[in-house]
Amino acid sequence: MNRIALFFVTVIISSVAYGKTAKSTVILLSIDGFSYDYLSQYQPKNILDFATKGIKAKLIPVYPSKTFPNHLSIITGVYPAKHGIVHNKFYHPDLGQTYKLGAGKHNSSWLTAQPFWFYAQQQGVKSAIYFWPESEAKGQGSEPSYHIPYNNVDSIEMRFNQIITWLKKPTEQAPKLILSYFSSVDSAGHEYGLNSPELSAAITQIDHAFGRFINRLEKEVTQKVNVILLSDHGMVQLNQQRKINLNTVFNKKIQESIDNKRIVVAKSSTQLYLYFDHTKLTKQQQSNFTNELKITQKQNTKWYEVYRKGNYPKHWHLNKTNVLVIPDIIINAKPTASFTYGNYAHNGKATHGYDALQHSGLMSIFLAAGPDIVKGRAVIPFENIHIVPFMSQLLGITPPENIDGKVDVLNSVLRY
Ligand code: AMP
Ligand code: ZN
Ligand code: ZN
Repeated sequence: MNRIALFFVTVIISSVAYGKTAKSTVILLSIDGFSYDYLSQYQPKNILDFATKGIKAKLIPVYPSKTFPNHLSIITGVYPAKHGIVHNKFYHPDLGQTYKLGAGKHNSSWLTAQPFWFYAQQQGVKSAIYFWPESEAKGQGSEPSYHIPYNNVDSIEMRFNQIITWLKKPTEQAPKLILSYFSSVDSAGHEYGLNSPELSAAITQIDHAFGRFINRLEKEVTQKVNVILLSDHGMVQLNQQRKINLNTVFNKKIQESIDNKRIVVAKSSTQLYLYFDHTKLTKQQQSNFTNELKITQKQNTKWYEVYRKGNYPKHWHLNKTNVLVIPDIIINAKPTASFTYGNYAHNGKATHGYDALQHSGLMSIFLAAGPDIVKGRAVIPFENIHIVPFMSQLLGITPPENIDGKVDVLNSVLRY
């Protein structure tokens, strides 16, 4: 076959596999910390109306159910072990540096997988971002066409207005993939708890803004648009009686090793990630420490569990021994307990970060509607790594290779 014929065959095959080309625009909106339970508890009218136009499913967060690991899995289609952001805060033993949320802005090598907008741009799909965790990290040449970096000032309305403005640009300049992120529901959930008027107000606020946005899309925007509204994880009310002080977790010997940096601990209220200095601790010492932590746990409380790298629960997808940012030991708090240390205590009423399979309140939402999405089909709960292949199909582009997400999972909701 000559080169030109081969080209046409390739184009035909890819259009069959990935649907029609020049498809509709995709808008992906993330409401941080919006639990699936809020849909029935708070009955947000516009969000529920939107769901009746398309599909609604429980979205399963990846481990740990924190903002950065989950937003990166949503946008790379891979588990945290592959995209590198294994927690909101973790350590790199070779660099001797600690990652904290947003650190990719200063050093993009924290990210070990490319976000979806990179592939979209490469295939000629313009993208626009009004906030997305780690969107500030520099890619490798395929930056989004439009990008507003994270700040905590811009209002919800500003974000929706900007999206409408982007959509109204002349066809060749208008982005086809638009992402945005909203943190107010997560913040209200943490601070005031699950049954608070403040959380209710935050949900009403985003619901009203979303309702106005959908109205404007229908009235003012000419192109066909598929909208995905999702969250990264839910929220769990903390039991104030289940605070675990670190001085009950670490015995004297282990605390000494932490003090002299033979063990580094990346702490959060729901996990302790322990990294051994393999140049200073023998294999025997490491295994002794692991056993001591387990013995202390047994004598202590049932509100946390101790795991060694290589033996992490399978569904955490963290048993890659060659990935250095994955800790040697994970001390995992069970819902509704939390770790406290030094002057630090989670002084909020609710949190997330736990293994999402241990508490139903941690399930997140996935709603989608638009011209390419079927209406009313039941969708069983699925993990957020499958969203990248779904968006690839909606946009008619080739999904990234070697990702964990599978095209089949959401294939049945596409309207052909
Ligand atoms: P979490 O502790 O998992 O609830 O993280 C949520 C917090 O992440 C939000 O309240 C924001 O302060 C922060 N955040 C979200 N997006 C970004 C971003 N792009 N850059 C820096 N921080 C962010
Ligand atoms: Zn979050
Ligand atoms: Zn949060």
